[in-house]
Amino acid sequence: MSPLDAKLRRLAAELAAIQKRAKALGIFTNKRELLHCPGCGLKEDVTANGMLITYHEPDLSHDTGLRFKQLNKHTFRCPACGQNVKEPISEQGCEGASPA
Ligand SMILES: [Zn+2]
Repeated sequence: MSPLDAKLRRLAAELAAIQKRAKALGIFTNKRELLHCPGCGLKEDVTANGMLITYHEPDLSHDTGLRFKQLNKHTFRCPACGQNVKEPISEQGCEGASPA
């Protein structure tokens, strides 16, 4: 194995460790739309360093520490008021719709 290969292998191992750590820290991976509870106004947001937070307006950057609980594929429960919240439809989600 060349020294370059050894270096690449080490970098790949480090990257895998970083990804594992990011997941453990709760970093938001953008797999779904951000939620907004119509009942109490609790909103999700992602900070500049990729952390998922929730807040009540106007405390835009104050993380309440609450997290929406996923009930099924597109439904979540608001941790503040207990209301069911549907995931907003993303733009890519419309392509399967057929005219009635
Ligand atoms: Zn709520």
